[in-house]
Amino acid sequence: MKDKTALVLGAGGFIGSHLVKDLVSNGYWTRGVDLKHPQWTPSPANDFVIGDLRDPDLVREVIDRPFDEVYQLAADMGGAGYLFTGHNDADVMHNSALINLNVAEYGYRRSIKKLFYSSSACVYPKYNQTDPANPRTPENSVSPASPDSEYGWEKLFSERLYDAFHRNRGLDIRVVRFHNVYGPEGAWNDGREKAPAAICRKVAETPDGGTIPIWGPGSQTRSFMFIYDAIDGIEKIMEAPYTGPINLGSSEMISINDLTGKILDISGKALEVVNVPGPVGVMGRTSDNTKIKYDLNWEPWMTLDNGLPILYDWIESQVNGGNG
Ligand code: NAD
Repeated sequence: MKDKTALVLGAGGFIGSHLVKDLVSNGYWTRGVDLKHPQWTPSPANDFVIGDLRDPDLVREVIDRPFDEVYQLAADMGGAGYLFTGHNDADVMHNSALINLNVAEYGYRRSIKKLFYSSSACVYPKYNQTDPANPRTPENSVSPASPDSEYGWEKLFSERLYDAFHRNRGLDIRVVRFHNVYGPEGAWNDGREKAPAAICRKVAETPDGGTIPIWGPGSQTRSFMFIYDAIDGIEKIMEAPYTGPINLGSSEMISINDLTGKILDISGKALEVVNVPGPVGVMGRTSDNTKIKYDLNWEPWMTLDNGLPILYDWIESQVNGGNG
């Protein structure tokens, strides 16, 4: 009999599937819930429920006990090609808000012990992220609010929703703002992939001497955190005595063209990079880690030079193995 219980919502997705492995290996009795099973390796969850978290009845059924830890990772999300075209805005807001409304209410009703909510760097105002060299993302810079996408607005709404349940109903919460997370077993070819996976795929699919398109001017900056750091950071924040919100991301800022250069070096290929118009988002973004370093004495340790070869190898094997 395992003594601690965990519920992972979004357990079929990228971060959720890695988190379930971590929780099970740490001895938690774990239930996963998602619309789908993880695509690449079977989930080791003790119980895995396929269901739609927009449905309040399903949420009431899966939160059937006062779980020690509930991780709310389920969201209608993707990379720039999904979030920044504007075509999916209604789905993104409606689907994710319904999930969070249900989870806050039934988590409170079942007296769960602790709720982790995965917010996003997309909550930060676009007016602080126009200069690729100097983006501002300290936690308290979030207002006056002006996120760059409806995805960011929904995350901001849900942060406040969980905070309201914390203040009015005593729900113990941990809210993190993930900055881009990358690694094996994430989206790479379904229209929801983010820049590292998308660029690895383009490079892996293109024969030596060919050309790859990169969206935007390429001078836009981002930072990327390897999945193992994300899982480690989640554990640290769950153990910490405050509610957040707190940034959870890498502060190793890089331009998208320089990221492409690193991936080309890993591949050993000589390809021409052509910057083309495309959905880009803000011009600069990185994780301000002042707070997490001070409060938790922690920050991610994997560099891009350590992590990108692992991602490239995995995507190359997907491309060559025909697992798309
Ligand atoms: P993901 O898309 O791989 O996983 C989300 C999962 O939620 C998917 O498996 C999806 O099927 C599931 N889901 C969506 N709607 C559902 C519904 N109605 N019912 C049940 N399941 C549903 O995303 P991820 O990269 O693992 O991200 C996890 C969380 O972290 C999300 O909330 C995301 O917004 C947040 N986040 C991620 C990143 C990142 O870089 N990966 C950055 C910022 C924030």
